[in-house]
Amino acid sequence: MYEGTDAIEVFHIKDDSQNGTFLDGVSIGKGNQKVLRHGATVALPWRVTKDTGETEDKLINFEFVKIEKDVFDEDWDEVLAKYELGKQLGSGAFAVVKKVTEKATGNVYAMKVVNKEKMASVESTRDDVLTSEVDLLNKLDHPNILKIHEVIDTKTKMFIFLELVRDGDLYDKLKREGRISEDDAREIFIQMADAIAYLHRENVSHRDLKPENILVQENPTTGAVEIKISDFGLSRTTQSNKAMETMAGTLDYCAPEIIAHFHTGNGYGREVDMWSLGVILYIMVSGAAPFGQGSGNDDLLDCITNAKFQFPENRFGDVSDSCKDLIKHLLVADPKTRYTADQSLQHPWIKDP
Ligand code: ADP
Ligand code: MG
Repeated sequence: MYEGTDAIEVFHIKDDSQNGTFLDGVSIGKGNQKVLRHGATVALPWRVTKDTGETEDKLINFEFVKIEKDVFDEDWDEVLAKYELGKQLGSGAFAVVKKVTEKATGNVYAMKVVNKEKMASVESTRDDVLTSEVDLLNKLDHPNILKIHEVIDTKTKMFIFLELVRDGDLYDKLKREGRISEDDAREIFIQMADAIAYLHRENVSHRDLKPENILVQENPTTGAVEIKISDFGLSRTTQSNKAMETMAGTLDYCAPEIIAHFHTGNGYGREVDMWSLGVILYIMVSGAAPFGQGSGNDDLLDCITNAKFQFPENRFGDVSDSCKDLIKHLLVADPKTRYTADQSLQHPWIKDP
C-alpha cells in the first residue's frame, strides 16, 4: 500500500472459499479481505471421516508468523557484548522484541530492536523522532507505564532495553480467553485510566492505545493482573503515520476526530486516548469490537464517526448497566463531552462496584 509516495508493507488475507475461513475466530466472509497480522490465527474447516465411517467437522488452525532473519552486522557488536539473546516475545511494524539477559547482572529485559531504515521508508520524518520518544519515556514515571533500562543507538537500528513483562500483551490474553470477567476488566481499566490521567497531566497523549500495546502479567504473590502501557509512539509518532494506520486498517481503536482530521485537517487532542480506552473496555467485557462488525469499510467509518454501536444481548446479557453506562460516556463522538480519565475514575462502576 502507499502512504503518499511511500510504500508500506501490509499483508492481507482474502476469503475465496465456499465453506468459510476464520481469522482469529471470526468468519472473514467470501470475497472479503482483511489485514493479516503477525501471530494471527487462520482457521479452515476440515471434514474428517472416522474409522466408523462417520464424518466430523473440525477446524484446522494456522498461525501467521512473519519471520525475519537476524543479520548480526557490526551494529550488533555492543549489544552482543553486553547481552545474551533469548526468545522472540513479539513484533510490530518496525520492531522485533526479544527477551535478553544482561551478562554483567543476570537481569532479564525485553529488547526492542527498531529498524530505522524500514521506519524511515514509511515515516517522512527525521531521525530525532525516535530519540525524542525515548527521552519522553525516560522522563515518565508511573507504575503502569513501561520503563526503559538502556538504549543503544546505532546507524541502522535502535536497541531499546525495556522492563520485561512476563505474560505477553492484552491482545493475546483476549484471544486466549475470549472475554474477561467484569472484575478483571475493572482492574485493568483502573490501571489504564490512572496511567492515562498521569500522561495527560504531563501533556503527553499516547495516540495508539490498543490491546497489543498493553502488556500484562500476574502478580506472583497476589495473583492480581498488572498492566504496563507500552509503545509510546516509538513507531507511531507523526500524523502521517496515523494516516498509514488508517489505510492499513487499524481503525478499531481510532477516534472519530482522527478520521475527521483527514478531511478537515482540524487536528485532534488527547481525548483520542479515552475513545480507545472505551473500545478496549467494550472488547474486554464482551469479547467483540463495538464497531466494524458489519460488512464493509464505509460502514465502519460511518459507525465510528457517529459513535453508532450497540450492546447485543448475546454478549452483554450479563454485563452490568453501570459498566455499559461508563462505555457510553467514553464512546462519545464529541471529544469535548467525552469522559476524561479523571472522570472515568469517579464513575460508579469504579467507585461503587
Ligand atoms: P511496535 O512499535 O513495533 O508495535 P511494540 O513495542 O508494540 O512494537 O512491541 C511489539 C510486541 O512485543 C508487543 O505487542 C508485545 O507482545 C511484545 N513486547 C513489547 N515490549 C515488551 C516487554 N517489555 N515485555 C514483554 N513483551 C513485550
Ligand atoms: Mg505495538
